[in-house]
Amino acid sequence: MLLAGATAAHSRTSFANGSGSDAKNAARRAASRGAIRPQSSYRLQPQAGAQSPGLRPSTSVTYTLEAAEGRRIALTFDDGPDPVYTPQILDVLRRYKVPATFCVLGENAVLNPGLLQAIADGGHLIANHSWSHPALPRLSTAKARKELSRTSELIEDTVGSPPMWARAPYGYWSEETLELSAGLGMSPLGWSVDTGDWRQPGVPSIVSAVVDNVRAGSIVLSHDGGADAAQTVAALHDYLPQLIDEGWTLSLPPVDGPVGAYRGDGAGSTPADADAATSGERMRPAAR
Ligand SMILES: [Zn+2]
Repeated sequence: MLLAGATAAHSRTSFANGSGSDAKNAARRAASRGAIRPQSSYRLQPQAGAQSPGLRPSTSVTYTLEAAEGRRIALTFDDGPDPVYTPQILDVLRRYKVPATFCVLGENAVLNPGLLQAIADGGHLIANHSWSHPALPRLSTAKARKELSRTSELIEDTVGSPPMWARAPYGYWSEETLELSAGLGMSPLGWSVDTGDWRQPGVPSIVSAVVDNVRAGSIVLSHDGGADAAQTVAALHDYLPQLIDEGWTLSLPPVDGPVGAYRGDGAGSTPADADAATSGERMRPAAR
């Protein structure tokens, strides 16, 4: 399978993961404390647009699954796991026997380790969406690394293998945070179809955002955590059988990393699409 998009793999810099044991201990301490409260307002924060120009998604890391292997698309769910909505989404996916990618927050995963395991047991992919959903480029290097590393450690400790994909909160990457992520063995995971579900626009709006906009290779962004996701679940019930009837194959990002090349820092770029983002050079996540 080919994948078009971007990665920080042009930088062969190996970032020391020297704080690995610290991160593991911190994750264990956090888990044992159980005192970390998830925020409830991720999706109420601006994710794009004029209100917060600095948080525009980095379009240079928008991936699309290559069309070459047919009508493949990928569903992704961010900001969970959530004790109410994640099981409902897992139920729908199980019913239609399709996989999805869950971009989890460490602070939610640490409170719901059973859900994290249930995601893995369902054959779905778990990606690192940071610990507490900050705008990573606005943090110090040490804090940004910690956001990613302790989440990866928690995922590995819980399900037995570390994540190979990372999705930045707000899709907001920088050169440095892309390199941090690569140094932790992860490739950046973008999206190409935004359902806008976090705004709770109504089920028909979410359904049409998907069925009207998917193209071969699309990666669809939805949310199973962070706020009320009832519309997200209802929409999934509606559009998933439609997509299957239309011959779409629900897919996962390749476990051995993306194909594609990093296309700069995204400044002034327009949203990538399947045609424009193709590059062809195979890149692998940095060795762990
Ligand atoms: Zn998010």
